Amino acid sequence: MSDVIIETRGLVKKFHHLTVLDGISTEVRRGEVVVIIGPSGSGKSTFLRCLNWLEEPSGGEIFFEGQKVTGKNKDLNRVRQKMGMVFQQFNLFPHRTVLQNITMAPIKLKKETEAEAKKRAMELLDRVGLADKAKSYPKELSGGQQQRIAIVRALAMQPDVMLFDEPTSALDPEMVGEVLDVMKSLAREGMTMVVVTHEMGFAREVGERVLFMDGGVIAEENTPAELFGNPQNERTQAFLSKVL
Ligand code: ADP
Ligand code: MG
Repeated sequence: MSDVIIETRGLVKKFHHLTVLDGISTEVRRGEVVVIIGPSGSGKSTFLRCLNWLEEPSGGEIFFEGQKVTGKNKDLNRVRQKMGMVFQQFNLFPHRTVLQNITMAPIKLKKETEAEAKKRAMELLDRVGLADKAKSYPKELSGGQQQRIAIVRALAMQPDVMLFDEPTSALDPEMVGEVLDVMKSLAREGMTMVVVTHEMGFAREVGERVLFMDGGVIAEENTPAELFGNPQNERTQAFLSKVL
């Protein structure tokens, strides 16, 4: 089996006349942590959303685990089940307990029994140190706790890839670390991850490849050491001078 898990070729996304992704070609390998940085509006979220079909691409191709998921005969359910996504705004269901939030999709979409789903949920909650919150409601939890639950909810579907869209941007500073720690441990365990973030420390420490997006294209792509230490593109330099 090829170790490329996601491949895009000339991916284009337009909203009416606005071209938001202007030909993105890249690959993500199994077990790799790819970090995406870039200015606001450069298309980072749209790129992630096209990968798992929260947005329909306007052109180009996406391959997931060797299967084409653009064009005819695509299996979108599989793509969505196998790519977990974590958003800036947690998006937990407010009127469901933590446990229900986590077990809902595995029961409904993967036809797991309640007992199976609950068992995995509790194991995962334990891993992120929140087993005692199983019966709580989201509003009873801090932002950092809610985001760790959102990560667990995605993991409960046993995804092959995790997509993170600025998972710490909505958090108070003192809660950023606890979420990044969970992401770091996932990375260490070999999870394939695509992470949009402004946390440059995380990018350097955990990222194996950094994509700098600007104006709907990958303007520069390199290892963190090279991209941060020796950026080649003027736009990368300008961006880094503002955020580092
Ligand atoms: P980033 O995540 O890098 O900040 P986005 O992917 O969110 O960028 O947005 C890229 C561009 O696409 C922005 O100009 C944004 O206004 C536009 N855009 C995003 N989603 C929509 C949408 N659903 N309809 C119209 N324009 C959109
Ligand atoms: Mg965004």
